[in-house]
Amino acid sequence: MQRPTSSQLFARAQEAIPGGVNSPVRAFKGVGGDPVFFARGEGPYLWDEDGNRYIDYIGSWGPMIMGHSFPPVVEAVQKQAAEAIGFGAPTELEIEIAELIKARVPSIEQIRMVNSGTEATMSAIRLARGFTGRDLIIKFTGCYHGHSDSLLVQAGSGVLTLGIPNSPGVPEAIAGNTLSLPFNDAEAVAAALERYSGQVAAVILEPIAGNMGCVLPRPGYLEQLRTLCTDHGVVLIFDEVMTGFRVNAGSAQGLYGVRPDLTTLGKVIGAGLPVGAFGGRADIMACLAPLGPVYQAGTLSGNPLAMAAGLTLLKHLTSDVYARLERQTQRLVYGMEAAAQAAGVPIATAQVPGMFGLFFSETPVHSFEDVAACDTERFKALFHQMLDHGVYLAPSAFEAGFLSAAHDDAAIDTTLDAFRAAVKAI
Ligand code: PLP
Repeated sequence: MQRPTSSQLFARAQEAIPGGVNSPVRAFKGVGGDPVFFARGEGPYLWDEDGNRYIDYIGSWGPMIMGHSFPPVVEAVQKQAAEAIGFGAPTELEIEIAELIKARVPSIEQIRMVNSGTEATMSAIRLARGFTGRDLIIKFTGCYHGHSDSLLVQAGSGVLTLGIPNSPGVPEAIAGNTLSLPFNDAEAVAAALERYSGQVAAVILEPIAGNMGCVLPRPGYLEQLRTLCTDHGVVLIFDEVMTGFRVNAGSAQGLYGVRPDLTTLGKVIGAGLPVGAFGGRADIMACLAPLGPVYQAGTLSGNPLAMAAGLTLLKHLTSDVYARLERQTQRLVYGMEAAAQAAGVPIATAQVPGMFGLFFSETPVHSFEDVAACDTERFKALFHQMLDHGVYLAPSAFEAGFLSAAHDDAAIDTTLDAFRAAVKAI
């Protein structure tokens, strides 16, 4: 029997699933056209239901740092599934992964596993509020921290793609406790902390913003936030759901040498299975139930399949892997810059090992305001050109690109050939 094509599947999906997708950015609303339905992944490649092969720069939105179907992870999941899929009771695997994360990210003195990045940030916010006895939180416009009520204010990623600054369904009373400030502007934070002195529980940010493209922190910005939070008794939360173990063995905080009070993780630590985590200072984590009064729980938290996958992946993330990610990211980004220049198309880029941003802008990009000024029509045209040439970029101008260690020179050179043809045509 013939397999259904991507477009047949999309028609069928829309009958049963809102918009045909289980997460909005997948719907291609930001770029137009119908989403591609995938059948298989291996290394840097994906195959769709129509049998087309693509070089993948989404990597399941971050987790596939060693490429798709990384054999050790596949084996670990198979072995664990044969033993037990879940208990809802403690296992040694949970201790092993907690110890490994603690060893690589020293600010994490204690850690708790959850099932998604959204849960991780939602729980970290509750904990910061419980610890400080304060209600207000500060976030930054264009940073996305998942879809919990408190954090769905001026957020990035899908909400930005769909142009929804604040979602209906989030009560004013909750959104009113969230202040959204410009990214990369420490003075705005200083002013807000003075104005709301004694009322702010936490400052939460993506230390490298990856949900409005990829926007790097200006030199000194993270250090300034650290000092301000210490001075005002505010919990500094680095949301490293995206950057955790992706950009450096010690995550973004290891790359920049700044120690937050709490960190949220996801994506890479689950190797593609549904995992999140939050951790940090032992005195703050001690407020969590069952030790303390701040309640947080999860039926599937620390699930053995997910822990086996994550632990196996983390053990393979050696310094050689990050060095390779850095080299390959540079090869790609410098190649794109040269191609765009040759075609007379102005672009701005940002990169860290394994992650990059590409903006149609004549000036460097430091904040959401800069991102919003970019030429998104040009991105849409580029996206479809690249797709036609067998390269799968995120279907939104407001997402970062991800590489894996499996992206070898051949994959990158093929991508650059496609990019050279695409920039000439847009
Ligand atoms: N925080 C950041 C920085 C993210 O990039 C994301 C998702 O992309 C989240 C939180 C939410 O994670 P999840 O989609 O697993 O709920």
